[in-house]
Amino acid sequence: MQADAPVLKDIVLVGGGHAHVSVLRMFGMKPMPGVRLTLITRDIHTPYSGMLPGYIAGHYDCDEIHIDLGPLARFAGARLYHGEVDGIDPGERLVHVPGRPPVHYDLLSINSGSRPRTVDVPGALANALPIKPVDRWLHQWQALQERVLNSQGEFRMLVVGGGAGGVELALSTQHRLKGLLRDQDDQLSRLHYELLTDGPEILPTHNAGVRRRFMRVLAERGIAVHLNSKVIAVEPTGVQVEGGDFHPADAVLWVTVAAAPEWPAKSGLAVDREGFIAVGRELRSISHPEIFAAGDIASLPDPRPKSGVFAVRQGPVLAENLRRAAESRPLKPYRPQKRFLGLISTGDTYAVASRGNWSLEGRLLWTWKDWIDRRFMQRFNELPEMGHDTGPDLGRIADADAIRELSTLAMRCGGCGAKVGSTVLSRVINRLPVQRREDVLIGLDSPDDAAAFEVPPGRIMVQSVDYFRSFIDDPYTFGRIASNHALGDIFAMGAAAQSALAIATVPYGRERIVEQTLFELMSGALDSLAPTGAVLAGGHSSEGAELAFGLTVNGLIAKDALLRKGGMQPGDALILTKPIGTGTLFAADMRGRAKGRWIDEAIQSMLVSNQAAAACLHRHGATACTDVTGFGLLGHLVEMTRASDVDVQLELGAVPLIDGAEQTAAAGILSSLQPQNVRLRRAVRNPEALSTHARYPLLFDPQTAGGLLASVPADAASPCVDKLRELGYPHAIIIGRVEIRTTEAAPVQVVG
Ligand SMILES: Cc1cc2nc3c(=O)[nH]c(=O)nc-3n(C[C@H](O)[C@H](O)[C@H](O)COP(=O)(O)OP(=O)(O)OC[C@H]3O[C@@H](n4cnc5c(N)ncnc54)[C@H](O)[C@@H]3O)c2cc1C
Repeated sequence: MQADAPVLKDIVLVGGGHAHVSVLRMFGMKPMPGVRLTLITRDIHTPYSGMLPGYIAGHYDCDEIHIDLGPLARFAGARLYHGEVDGIDPGERLVHVPGRPPVHYDLLSINSGSRPRTVDVPGALANALPIKPVDRWLHQWQALQERVLNSQGEFRMLVVGGGAGGVELALSTQHRLKGLLRDQDDQLSRLHYELLTDGPEILPTHNAGVRRRFMRVLAERGIAVHLNSKVIAVEPTGVQVEGGDFHPADAVLWVTVAAAPEWPAKSGLAVDREGFIAVGRELRSISHPEIFAAGDIASLPDPRPKSGVFAVRQGPVLAENLRRAAESRPLKPYRPQKRFLGLISTGDTYAVASRGNWSLEGRLLWTWKDWIDRRFMQRFNELPEMGHDTGPDLGRIADADAIRELSTLAMRCGGCGAKVGSTVLSRVINRLPVQRREDVLIGLDSPDDAAAFEVPPGRIMVQSVDYFRSFIDDPYTFGRIASNHALGDIFAMGAAAQSALAIATVPYGRERIVEQTLFELMSGALDSLAPTGAVLAGGHSSEGAELAFGLTVNGLIAKDALLRKGGMQPGDALILTKPIGTGTLFAADMRGRAKGRWIDEAIQSMLVSNQAAAACLHRHGATACTDVTGFGLLGHLVEMTRASDVDVQLELGAVPLIDGAEQTAAAGILSSLQPQNVRLRRAVRNPEALSTHARYPLLFDPQTAGGLLASVPADAASPCVDKLRELGYPHAIIIGRVEIRTTEAAPVQVVG
């Protein structure tokens, strides 16, 4: 969305399917002022079905067959929420995503695909490998390859499903496995394949010529086809077919007809007999005009096969109709092709073409398919430069209420007048769960001019404050990260979190949007505070140009238990609990140059609280501790060496990195704070030896909600790292050791 246009309408996209990727691209090419897009998706990298068999067969790598929704969403100006929708409330216009507050929509579009039907076949879910969700299947496929390679004697693969997906899967998995067996000089003849389908023929939606060609190819490859074989149960050792036959199998691949998830019907949407969302020709729900659906999940008046081709074709019509619906204009019908070209691969860079009653096969067809597929993917993974902002023109989507509200925006006050209105604030506070603690005498449960805290006898209060503007377009996740970040100081000191006061700046906008943003932000903050035992006791909120949030956090600790930066002892090991790289990665994200999964990993890391790590370090006799934040790893380490009057040796190769950080830093994409941090290079004794090392710049990379850096007596260090990993810090590691202070001015020696 254009940064200076207030939000008037929320369009929420559920699922990053083949139609929504077009919607995102088209909104990126031609933004719609006043419309905010939000994409909620289970997968950040969405697989392109057309290339999936090619990947399985070993012709593509993982990135080549996935569309990275991270940069695409950024290109579209869309908020990207990583989560799996499990229901909607059409009355309140809310989308439910477990683990976060409901997301409001004015218009909703659903393109979340389908899965092979497993529910009505006992044992299918437990004993077979369904092709969808694809990411789960790909993990299972890795494990299956290992199993086959490590097995001895016969290995029986059984594919259930005789559509294009099942046939392609049988041929592509077989091609790959035979190649791997060949590589290890193993016998190819010990791999057996069977394909079972309940119908009288394979590929029922294709013509007889295509079927004949595939029956021949399957026979040539030694894949036995069993027609009219309806699987009624899957057991660990094989499948039971209706009518008596039991087919033994070591692995069962499940590619049967598409099934719908249960949540659309349960949410009250009109669905067809199978549970797919019933839409009209304009891809609009026949029961809820503000809801659209496309791809496998949609059931059109004139049904078409569940195929990615149709989802792709629906994309531009869906994008146009979402625009038109936002502007209350008449919608455009989607006209599905009666006959379409299908290119079905045979696993070995060979393909069969199918259109109406016509068919053809050959290696050139695979080359052609490969060209088409790569060109399609290029449109989403190589995005054009972002267009220039032409300024908001809200006339077409603003209704009378919106215009009235917007006219007051220009006259909003500063100072105290910039506060979020009291009704909005009290509505938000009323929606948040009440938190109480005995030692918080006056808090949000009995608000007054100020909060009041009691410090129990024998304890002291430690306090810290942090505040920064949002680096992600997701108030809930930002609220969680900012709170984690603030609490880091308290935990680094060894204290228990007691309470917090929040300060929030929410972008100007319509009252409903301001309220929702503030609610999501505060919900995120509470979701980080509550598990630590801290209560939110008060705060201040205002409207401003951009979303920003911070907390004053209070902790309690016995005076003599304080863990400080000073205290490191020569001989101690240096332990870091989380990987680094958030600065460069978010700098790259702002430029659309970071992969979605890198950003997702960075966010997951920032969401991990330092609380359990601090307690663990304490239990293992930590002599000093700090949290790694804005000054970067080196900056915080230097602070510790100065306070402790010691030198340290830092092992650059051991420092854990968030995936992608090395690539973005190597591309020269660094945080705007990096140059200030780099001034500390004087503290490194041997910069010339390592300054060209790819990891070196990351020592200066500012961190948000980074991990803890602590010195621990050498004999306790390994058990401490083991325990940290057990506690949910998989990257915890020893990154160096503390040494006696020398006469060298620079306290840090970095080794490669
Ligand atoms: C082996 C195989 C090969 C195939 N080959 C072809 C082919 O060559 N050509 C072709 O046209 N079709 C092919 N198909 C069919 C094709 O896979 C589907 O028709 C197509 O993927 C449907 O696209 P879609 O856009 O509806 O959904 P999908 O491509 O399935 O995308 C759904 C998206 O929604 C997300 N999502 C799912 N549930 C949720 C949720 N609850 N909340 C949030 N996000 C969610 C997913 O993460 C995913 O990003 C093949 C199928 C198989 C099994």
